[in-house]
Amino acid sequence: MADLLITNIGQLVTNDPSRGGILGIVEQAAVAIVEGSIAWLGSKGEVPSDYLDLAIHDAAGAAVVPGFVDAHTHIVFAGDRSGEFARRLAGETYEEVLAAGGGIQSTVTATRAASGGELFDGAAARASRMLASGTTTVEVKSGYGLDVNTEARLLGVATRLDAELSIDVIPTFLGAHVVPAEYRDRRDEYVDLVCTWMLEAAAPLATFCDVFCDEAAFTVDEARRILRAAAERGLGLRVHADQLGRIGAAELAADLGAASADHVDHATDEDLAAMRRSGTVAVLLPGVSFSMRLPYPAGRRVWDSGVTVALATDCNPGTSWIETMPFVIALASLNMGLTPEEALWAATRGSALSLRLDDRGHLVAGAIGDLAVLDAPSYLHLPYRPDADIVAAVVKRGVVI
Ligand SMILES: [Zn+2]
Repeated sequence: MADLLITNIGQLVTNDPSRGGILGIVEQAAVAIVEGSIAWLGSKGEVPSDYLDLAIHDAAGAAVVPGFVDAHTHIVFAGDRSGEFARRLAGETYEEVLAAGGGIQSTVTATRAASGGELFDGAAARASRMLASGTTTVEVKSGYGLDVNTEARLLGVATRLDAELSIDVIPTFLGAHVVPAEYRDRRDEYVDLVCTWMLEAAAPLATFCDVFCDEAAFTVDEARRILRAAAERGLGLRVHADQLGRIGAAELAADLGAASADHVDHATDEDLAAMRRSGTVAVLLPGVSFSMRLPYPAGRRVWDSGVTVALATDCNPGTSWIETMPFVIALASLNMGLTPEEALWAATRGSALSLRLDDRGHLVAGAIGDLAVLDAPSYLHLPYRPDADIVAAVVKRGVVI
Protein backbone atom coordinates (compact mmCIF):
# COMPACT_ATOMS: atom_id res chain seq x y z
CA MET A 1 0.00 0.00 0.00
CA ALA A 2 1.45 3.26 -1.00
CA ASP A 3 0.86 6.78 -2.17
CA LEU A 4 1.51 7.65 -5.80
CA LEU A 5 0.66 10.39 -8.28
CA ILE A 6 0.65 9.17 -11.88
CA THR A 7 1.01 12.19 -14.11
CA ASN A 8 1.21 12.94 -17.80
CA ILE A 9 -1.25 10.21 -18.84
CA GLY A 10 -2.14 10.73 -22.51
CA GLN A 11 -5.28 8.57 -22.39
CA LEU A 12 -6.82 7.24 -19.17
CA VAL A 13 -9.36 4.40 -19.38
CA THR A 14 -11.54 4.55 -16.24
CA ASN A 15 -14.51 2.26 -17.13
CA ASP A 16 -16.59 4.92 -15.37
CA PRO A 17 -19.76 5.31 -17.48
CA SER A 18 -20.42 8.75 -15.99
CA ARG A 19 -17.41 9.97 -17.99
CA GLY A 20 -18.92 8.81 -21.30
CA GLY A 21 -18.88 5.62 -23.37
CA ILE A 22 -18.20 2.25 -21.80
CA LEU A 23 -14.53 3.08 -21.20
CA GLY A 24 -15.00 6.53 -19.62
CA ILE A 25 -11.85 7.92 -21.22
CA VAL A 26 -10.13 11.01 -19.79
CA GLU A 27 -7.50 12.63 -22.04
CA GLN A 28 -4.38 14.30 -20.57
CA ALA A 29 -5.06 12.88 -17.13
CA ALA A 30 -3.53 12.20 -13.72
CA VAL A 31 -4.41 9.70 -10.97
CA ALA A 32 -3.69 10.13 -7.25
CA ILE A 33 -3.47 6.96 -5.12
CA VAL A 34 -3.39 7.25 -1.32
CA GLU A 35 -2.82 4.22 0.92
CA GLY A 36 -3.36 1.93 -2.06
CA SER A 37 -6.73 3.32 -3.12
CA ILE A 38 -7.66 5.89 -5.75
CA ALA A 39 -8.19 9.25 -4.05
CA TRP A 40 -8.64 11.43 -7.12
CA LEU A 41 -8.41 11.38 -10.90
CA GLY A 42 -8.96 13.99 -13.55
CA SER A 43 -7.25 16.43 -15.85
CA LYS A 44 -3.47 16.52 -15.32
CA GLY A 45 -3.59 20.32 -15.08
CA GLU A 46 -6.06 20.24 -12.18
CA VAL A 47 -4.35 18.01 -9.61
CA PRO A 48 -5.50 19.19 -6.14
CA SER A 49 -2.63 20.60 -4.09
CA ASP A 50 -3.06 17.81 -1.48
CA TYR A 51 -1.56 15.33 -3.95
CA LEU A 52 1.24 17.36 -5.48
CA ASP A 53 3.84 16.14 -2.98
CA LEU A 54 3.15 12.40 -3.52
CA ALA A 55 5.78 10.21 -5.18
CA ILE A 56 5.39 10.71 -8.93
CA HIS A 57 5.27 8.22 -11.78
CA ASP A 58 5.45 9.99 -15.16
CA ALA A 59 3.45 8.06 -17.77
CA ALA A 60 5.18 10.06 -20.54
CA GLY A 61 1.99 10.59 -22.51
CA ALA A 62 1.08 6.90 -22.68
CA ALA A 63 -2.30 5.21 -22.22
CA VAL A 64 -3.20 3.86 -18.78
CA VAL A 65 -5.87 1.18 -18.21
CA PRO A 66 -7.26 -0.57 -15.10
CA GLY A 67 -5.21 -3.61 -14.06
CA PHE A 68 -6.46 -6.70 -15.88
CA VAL A 69 -8.54 -9.24 -13.94
CA ASP A 70 -8.04 -12.83 -15.13
CA ALA A 71 -11.20 -14.57 -13.92
CA HIS A 72 -10.50 -18.21 -14.91
CA THR A 73 -7.16 -20.02 -14.57
CA HIS A 74 -5.74 -23.41 -13.61
CA ILE A 75 -2.13 -22.37 -12.94
CA VAL A 76 -1.30 -24.74 -10.04
CA PHE A 77 -0.12 -27.95 -11.72
CA ALA A 78 2.92 -30.12 -12.37
CA GLY A 79 4.06 -32.17 -15.36
CA ASP A 80 4.56 -31.40 -19.03
CA ARG A 81 2.03 -31.97 -21.82
CA SER A 82 3.94 -30.48 -24.76
CA GLY A 83 4.24 -33.96 -26.28
CA GLU A 84 0.45 -34.24 -26.23
CA PHE A 85 0.24 -30.86 -27.97
CA ALA A 86 2.53 -32.18 -30.75
CA ARG A 87 0.44 -35.36 -31.11
CA ARG A 88 -2.72 -33.29 -31.46
CA LEU A 89 -1.08 -31.12 -34.12
CA ALA A 90 -0.07 -34.29 -35.96
CA GLY A 91 -3.74 -35.22 -36.12
CA GLU A 92 -4.13 -37.74 -33.30
CA THR A 93 -7.57 -37.96 -31.72
CA TYR A 94 -8.24 -37.28 -28.04
CA GLU A 95 -8.67 -41.04 -27.51
CA GLU A 96 -5.23 -41.68 -29.02
CA VAL A 97 -3.72 -38.94 -26.85
CA LEU A 98 -5.29 -40.57 -23.77
CA ALA A 99 -3.99 -44.00 -24.80
CA ALA A 100 -0.48 -42.50 -25.04
CA GLY A 101 -0.73 -41.34 -21.40
CA GLY A 102 -1.84 -37.75 -22.08
CA GLY A 103 -4.95 -35.84 -21.09
CA ILE A 104 -5.94 -34.31 -17.79
CA GLN A 105 -5.25 -37.51 -15.85
CA SER A 106 -1.52 -37.15 -16.65
CA THR A 107 -1.55 -33.72 -15.00
CA VAL A 108 -3.39 -35.19 -11.99
CA THR A 109 -0.74 -37.93 -11.63
CA ALA A 110 2.15 -35.45 -11.86
CA THR A 111 0.45 -32.95 -9.54
CA ARG A 112 -0.25 -35.55 -6.85
CA ALA A 113 3.44 -36.58 -6.96
CA ALA A 114 4.83 -33.01 -6.79
CA SER A 115 5.98 -31.40 -3.55
CA GLY A 116 4.36 -28.25 -2.24
CA GLY A 117 7.50 -26.32 -3.10
CA GLU A 118 7.49 -27.54 -6.70
CA LEU A 119 3.82 -26.66 -7.11
CA PHE A 120 4.36 -23.22 -5.61
CA ASP A 121 7.43 -22.45 -7.74
CA GLY A 122 5.67 -23.38 -10.99
CA ALA A 123 2.53 -21.43 -10.16
CA ALA A 124 4.51 -18.44 -8.88
CA ALA A 125 6.45 -18.24 -12.16
CA ARG A 126 3.18 -18.20 -14.11
CA ALA A 127 1.53 -15.67 -11.79
CA SER A 128 4.60 -13.43 -11.94
CA ARG A 129 4.49 -13.37 -15.74
CA MET A 130 0.77 -12.57 -15.53
CA LEU A 131 1.50 -9.66 -13.20
CA ALA A 132 4.25 -8.37 -15.50
CA SER A 133 1.73 -8.34 -18.37
CA GLY A 134 -0.71 -6.21 -16.38
CA THR A 135 -2.89 -8.75 -14.54
CA THR A 136 -3.34 -7.46 -11.00
CA THR A 137 -6.00 -9.96 -9.86
CA VAL A 138 -6.18 -13.63 -10.86
CA GLU A 139 -8.64 -16.37 -10.03
CA VAL A 140 -6.87 -19.70 -9.42
CA LYS A 141 -8.65 -23.06 -9.42
CA SER A 142 -7.68 -26.33 -7.81
CA GLY A 143 -8.78 -29.42 -9.74
CA TYR A 144 -5.63 -31.41 -10.50
CA GLY A 145 -5.59 -33.14 -7.11
CA LEU A 146 -9.00 -34.84 -7.07
CA ASP A 147 -8.39 -36.26 -3.62
CA VAL A 148 -8.98 -34.54 -0.29
CA ASN A 149 -5.36 -33.97 0.59
CA THR A 150 -4.12 -32.77 -2.80
CA GLU A 151 -7.08 -30.48 -3.44
CA ALA A 152 -6.42 -28.80 -0.09
CA ARG A 153 -2.71 -28.56 -0.93
CA LEU A 154 -3.48 -26.83 -4.26
CA LEU A 155 -5.72 -24.29 -2.54
CA GLY A 156 -2.94 -23.78 0.00
CA VAL A 157 -0.59 -22.93 -2.87
CA ALA A 158 -3.13 -20.38 -4.17
CA THR A 159 -3.34 -18.82 -0.72
CA ARG A 160 0.45 -18.65 -0.49
CA LEU A 161 0.65 -16.99 -3.94
CA ASP A 162 -1.71 -14.31 -2.68
CA ALA A 163 0.39 -13.76 0.45
CA GLU A 164 3.82 -13.74 -1.21
CA LEU A 165 3.30 -12.14 -4.63
CA SER A 166 2.01 -8.67 -5.45
CA ILE A 167 -0.86 -10.11 -7.49
CA ASP A 168 -4.22 -10.70 -5.72
CA VAL A 169 -5.30 -14.36 -5.94
CA ILE A 170 -8.93 -15.50 -5.64
CA PRO A 171 -8.97 -19.27 -4.90
CA THR A 172 -11.65 -21.55 -6.37
CA PHE A 173 -12.26 -25.18 -5.38
CA LEU A 174 -12.69 -27.39 -8.47
CA GLY A 175 -12.76 -30.90 -7.00
CA ALA A 176 -15.38 -31.69 -9.66
CA HIS A 177 -13.02 -31.12 -12.58
CA VAL A 178 -13.14 -34.74 -13.84
CA VAL A 179 -13.91 -38.06 -12.17
CA PRO A 180 -10.46 -39.42 -11.29
CA ALA A 181 -9.39 -42.77 -12.75
CA GLU A 182 -9.77 -44.68 -9.49
CA TYR A 183 -13.46 -43.68 -9.29
CA ARG A 184 -14.30 -44.31 -12.95
CA ASP A 185 -16.76 -47.10 -12.18
CA ARG A 186 -18.22 -45.51 -9.05
CA ARG A 187 -18.77 -41.86 -9.88
CA ASP A 188 -21.58 -41.49 -7.35
CA GLU A 189 -19.04 -42.21 -4.62
CA TYR A 190 -16.77 -39.51 -6.03
CA VAL A 191 -19.60 -36.95 -6.04
CA ASP A 192 -20.33 -37.94 -2.43
CA LEU A 193 -16.67 -37.41 -1.55
CA VAL A 194 -16.63 -33.95 -3.17
CA CYS A 195 -19.82 -32.93 -1.35
CA THR A 196 -18.53 -34.04 2.06
CA TRP A 197 -14.88 -34.50 3.05
CA MET A 198 -13.34 -32.67 0.12
CA LEU A 199 -15.60 -29.65 0.49
CA GLU A 200 -15.01 -29.65 4.24
CA ALA A 201 -11.24 -29.43 3.66
CA ALA A 202 -11.52 -26.95 0.79
CA ALA A 203 -14.16 -24.51 1.98
CA PRO A 204 -11.98 -22.64 4.51
CA LEU A 205 -9.35 -22.08 1.78
CA ALA A 206 -11.59 -21.09 -1.14
CA THR A 207 -13.82 -18.17 -2.15
CA PHE A 208 -15.68 -20.03 -4.91
CA CYS A 209 -16.64 -23.57 -5.89
CA ASP A 210 -16.66 -24.54 -9.57
CA VAL A 211 -17.92 -27.68 -11.37
CA PHE A 212 -17.10 -28.84 -14.90
CA CYS A 213 -20.70 -29.48 -16.00
CA ASP A 214 -20.68 -30.70 -19.58
CA GLU A 215 -20.82 -33.68 -21.90
CA ALA A 216 -18.22 -36.21 -20.72
CA ALA A 217 -17.90 -34.32 -17.42
CA PHE A 218 -20.36 -33.92 -14.52
CA THR A 219 -24.10 -34.03 -15.21
CA VAL A 220 -26.47 -31.23 -14.31
CA ASP A 221 -27.85 -33.29 -11.40
CA GLU A 222 -24.36 -34.03 -10.07
CA ALA A 223 -23.32 -30.40 -10.47
CA ARG A 224 -26.45 -29.19 -8.69
CA ARG A 225 -25.71 -31.43 -5.69
CA ILE A 226 -22.10 -30.22 -5.45
CA LEU A 227 -22.89 -26.54 -5.93
CA ARG A 228 -25.72 -26.61 -3.38
CA ALA A 229 -23.40 -28.23 -0.85
CA ALA A 230 -20.79 -25.54 -1.57
CA ALA A 231 -23.33 -22.73 -1.22
CA GLU A 232 -24.36 -24.14 2.16
CA ARG A 233 -20.74 -23.74 3.25
CA GLY A 234 -20.75 -20.12 2.13
CA LEU A 235 -18.84 -20.44 -1.14
CA GLY A 236 -19.73 -18.42 -4.24
CA LEU A 237 -20.49 -20.48 -7.34
CA ARG A 238 -18.93 -20.75 -10.81
CA VAL A 239 -19.65 -23.32 -13.51
CA HIS A 240 -17.66 -24.61 -16.50
CA ALA A 241 -20.82 -24.61 -18.59
CA ASP A 242 -21.86 -25.98 -21.97
CA GLN A 243 -18.42 -25.81 -23.59
CA LEU A 244 -18.67 -29.13 -25.45
CA GLY A 245 -22.46 -29.30 -25.88
CA ARG A 246 -25.69 -27.86 -24.49
CA ILE A 247 -26.64 -29.95 -21.46
CA GLY A 248 -28.30 -27.22 -19.37
CA ALA A 249 -25.24 -26.14 -17.37
CA ALA A 250 -25.63 -22.41 -18.06
CA GLU A 251 -29.30 -22.71 -17.12
CA LEU A 252 -28.25 -24.42 -13.87
CA ALA A 253 -25.75 -21.63 -13.15
CA ALA A 254 -28.52 -19.06 -13.56
CA ASP A 255 -30.93 -21.14 -11.49
CA LEU A 256 -28.47 -21.29 -8.57
CA GLY A 257 -27.52 -17.60 -8.87
CA ALA A 258 -23.92 -18.46 -9.71
CA ALA A 259 -21.45 -15.60 -10.04
CA SER A 260 -20.33 -16.90 -13.42
CA ALA A 261 -20.96 -19.45 -16.15
CA ASP A 262 -17.74 -19.96 -18.09
CA HIS A 263 -17.21 -20.99 -21.76
CA VAL A 264 -20.99 -21.10 -22.59
CA ASP A 265 -20.14 -21.86 -26.24
CA HIS A 266 -23.38 -23.83 -26.67
CA ALA A 267 -25.70 -21.79 -24.44
CA THR A 268 -29.06 -21.01 -26.08
CA ASP A 269 -30.73 -17.60 -26.19
CA GLU A 270 -33.03 -18.83 -23.38
CA ASP A 271 -29.99 -19.80 -21.29
CA LEU A 272 -28.49 -16.35 -21.81
CA ALA A 273 -31.76 -14.67 -20.88
CA ALA A 274 -31.81 -16.66 -17.63
CA MET A 275 -28.20 -15.63 -16.92
CA ARG A 276 -29.06 -11.99 -17.50
CA ARG A 277 -31.97 -12.20 -15.06
CA SER A 278 -29.84 -13.88 -12.38
CA GLY A 279 -26.86 -11.55 -12.84
CA THR A 280 -24.62 -14.49 -13.79
CA VAL A 281 -21.58 -13.24 -15.73
CA ALA A 282 -20.43 -15.08 -18.89
CA VAL A 283 -16.66 -15.67 -18.73
CA LEU A 284 -15.51 -16.20 -22.33
CA LEU A 285 -12.22 -18.01 -23.04
CA PRO A 286 -10.93 -17.48 -26.59
CA GLY A 287 -7.49 -18.87 -25.74
CA VAL A 288 -8.97 -22.37 -25.81
CA SER A 289 -10.31 -21.79 -29.32
CA PHE A 290 -6.92 -20.48 -30.44
CA SER A 291 -4.91 -23.31 -28.89
CA MET A 292 -7.30 -26.12 -29.88
CA ARG A 293 -8.20 -24.69 -33.32
CA LEU A 294 -11.89 -24.64 -32.39
CA PRO A 295 -14.63 -22.12 -33.24
CA TYR A 296 -14.52 -19.01 -31.05
CA PRO A 297 -17.15 -18.17 -28.39
CA ALA A 298 -19.98 -16.04 -29.77
CA GLY A 299 -18.93 -12.86 -28.00
CA ARG A 300 -21.19 -10.59 -30.02
CA ARG A 301 -24.27 -12.72 -29.37
CA VAL A 302 -23.54 -12.98 -25.64
CA TRP A 303 -22.86 -9.24 -25.30
CA ASP A 304 -26.01 -8.33 -27.24
CA SER A 305 -28.09 -10.65 -25.02
CA GLY A 306 -27.49 -8.22 -22.16
CA VAL A 307 -25.41 -10.70 -20.13
CA THR A 308 -22.32 -9.16 -18.50
CA VAL A 309 -19.27 -10.44 -20.40
CA ALA A 310 -15.86 -11.22 -18.88
CA LEU A 311 -12.67 -12.46 -20.53
CA ALA A 312 -10.01 -14.75 -19.07
CA THR A 313 -7.01 -16.80 -20.20
CA ASP A 314 -8.17 -20.24 -18.93
CA CYS A 315 -4.41 -20.75 -18.46
CA ASN A 316 -3.96 -24.54 -18.12
CA PRO A 317 -1.50 -27.16 -19.39
CA GLY A 318 -3.92 -29.00 -21.68
CA THR A 319 -6.08 -26.67 -23.76
CA SER A 320 -4.83 -23.08 -23.32
CA TRP A 321 -1.40 -22.27 -21.90
CA ILE A 322 -1.89 -18.54 -22.37
CA GLU A 323 -0.89 -16.13 -19.62
CA THR A 324 -1.44 -12.61 -20.91
CA MET A 325 -4.70 -10.69 -20.99
CA PRO A 326 -3.56 -8.34 -23.79
CA PHE A 327 -3.37 -11.39 -26.07
CA VAL A 328 -6.87 -12.47 -24.96
CA ILE A 329 -8.17 -8.96 -25.72
CA ALA A 330 -6.66 -9.29 -29.19
CA LEU A 331 -8.31 -12.70 -29.76
CA ALA A 332 -11.68 -11.36 -28.59
CA SER A 333 -11.45 -8.28 -30.81
CA LEU A 334 -10.26 -10.17 -33.90
CA ASN A 335 -12.31 -13.38 -33.61
CA MET A 336 -15.30 -12.98 -31.30
CA GLY A 337 -17.06 -9.95 -32.74
CA LEU A 338 -16.40 -7.72 -29.73
CA THR A 339 -15.15 -4.19 -30.32
CA PRO A 340 -11.75 -3.33 -28.75
CA GLU A 341 -13.67 -1.22 -26.22
CA GLU A 342 -15.93 -4.13 -25.22
CA ALA A 343 -13.00 -6.55 -25.05
CA LEU A 344 -10.98 -4.24 -22.78
CA TRP A 345 -14.01 -3.63 -20.54
CA ALA A 346 -14.66 -7.39 -20.33
CA ALA A 347 -11.01 -8.05 -19.40
CA THR A 348 -11.15 -5.55 -16.55
CA ARG A 349 -14.57 -4.55 -15.20
CA GLY A 350 -16.47 -7.57 -16.53
CA SER A 351 -13.95 -9.98 -15.02
CA ALA A 352 -14.01 -8.16 -11.68
CA LEU A 353 -17.82 -8.39 -11.61
CA SER A 354 -17.61 -12.13 -12.37
CA LEU A 355 -15.58 -12.44 -9.16
CA ARG A 356 -18.08 -10.19 -7.33
CA LEU A 357 -15.32 -7.65 -6.71
CA ASP A 358 -16.72 -4.14 -6.97
CA ASP A 359 -13.50 -2.43 -5.85
CA ARG A 360 -11.50 -3.07 -9.03
CA GLY A 361 -11.71 -3.31 -12.79
CA HIS A 362 -12.52 0.38 -12.88
CA LEU A 363 -10.72 3.56 -11.85
CA VAL A 364 -12.99 5.60 -9.60
CA ALA A 365 -12.47 7.24 -6.22
CA GLY A 366 -12.29 4.50 -3.58
CA ALA A 367 -11.34 1.68 -5.95
CA ILE A 368 -8.01 -0.02 -5.33
CA GLY A 369 -5.08 1.54 -7.16
CA ASP A 370 -4.39 -1.24 -9.68
CA LEU A 371 -3.49 -0.17 -13.19
CA ALA A 372 -1.30 -0.84 -16.18
CA VAL A 373 0.73 1.83 -17.97
CA LEU A 374 0.97 0.88 -21.65
CA ASP A 375 3.93 1.39 -23.93
CA ALA A 376 1.48 2.91 -26.41
CA PRO A 377 -0.56 6.10 -26.88
CA SER A 378 -3.92 4.28 -27.04
CA TYR A 379 -5.65 1.19 -25.63
CA LEU A 380 -6.28 0.28 -29.26
CA HIS A 381 -2.70 -0.98 -29.41
CA LEU A 382 -3.76 -3.93 -27.19
CA PRO A 383 -5.49 -5.76 -30.08
CA TYR A 384 -3.58 -3.88 -32.81
CA ARG A 385 -0.15 -5.22 -31.74
CA PRO A 386 -1.06 -8.66 -30.34
CA ASP A 387 2.48 -9.92 -29.82
CA ALA A 388 3.89 -6.70 -28.33
CA ASP A 389 5.33 -6.48 -24.84
CA ILE A 390 2.89 -3.66 -24.40
CA VAL A 391 2.71 -3.12 -20.63
CA ALA A 392 5.45 -0.68 -19.62
CA ALA A 393 4.65 -0.57 -15.89
CA VAL A 394 2.22 -2.23 -13.50
CA VAL A 395 0.89 -0.42 -10.44
CA LYS A 396 -0.54 -2.63 -7.66
CA ARG A 397 -2.26 -0.82 -4.79
CA GLY A 398 -0.22 2.25 -5.57
CA VAL A 399 3.12 0.43 -5.78
CA VAL A 400 5.00 0.44 -9.09
CA ILE A 401 5.95 -3.23 -9.60
ZN1 LIG B 1 -11.23 -24.05 -17.07
